Amino acid sequence: MKRRLVLLGPPGSGKGTQGSLLSAELGIPTISTGALFRDQIARGTALGVEAQTYMAQGHLVPDRVVNAMVQSRLGLADAAVGFILDGYPRNVPQVAVLDSILAEADWAIEAAVSFELPEELIVERLLKRAQIEGRLDDTEPVIRERLAVYHLQTEPIAAVYQSRGLLTPVDAVGSVELVADRVRRALEAGA
Ligand code: ADP
Repeated sequence: MKRRLVLLGPPGSGKGTQGSLLSAELGIPTISTGALFRDQIARGTALGVEAQTYMAQGHLVPDRVVNAMVQSRLGLADAAVGFILDGYPRNVPQVAVLDSILAEADWAIEAAVSFELPEELIVERLLKRAQIEGRLDDTEPVIRERLAVYHLQTEPIAAVYQSRGLLTPVDAVGSVELVADRVRRALEAGA
């Protein structure tokens, strides 16, 4: 099974949920940039303070901040056996930076799993999550902005991985178990 993975898909598509299932199953860490930022915010670090202003508006945190954070996380020992990137890369320039970070260790992405979900369902899921988790960026206007940013900046990444023969689309509509099963089968199919 492939062990250097990128998860792609709109906010609310279930990347985080599926990422942690896969992580437990494969024994490799999930590296979620959103979760790393939320942790920095909770701890009140300088990085958290900087990231918060962008996140609260639904905008991307500047590349230099994200890239440095991901580079140091990928350098930790547990990533040597593989990793699942959730929320990174999030724009085309970040793809190139990731390529060069990985190349230094003689690594490369082996599959990009893309979670496919209709737009109405995305908004519905995010509004529901807002009630449960109370995330600062899960209010309706910020959700709309995040989706706009997603379409403009993140969606074009799929074509990059597609051209490398690494894109693995997965239907993200259905129960957690059903989607997890599709992910597993999609990854095994290309293994
Ligand atoms: P979701 O994908 O559900 O919107 P995330 O937890 O992945 O949520 O990300 C939340 C926010 O963190 C994003 O809206 C953005 O501000 C910031 N962020 C996360 N990853 C990146 C990244 N790779 N580049 C820039 N900003 C990022």
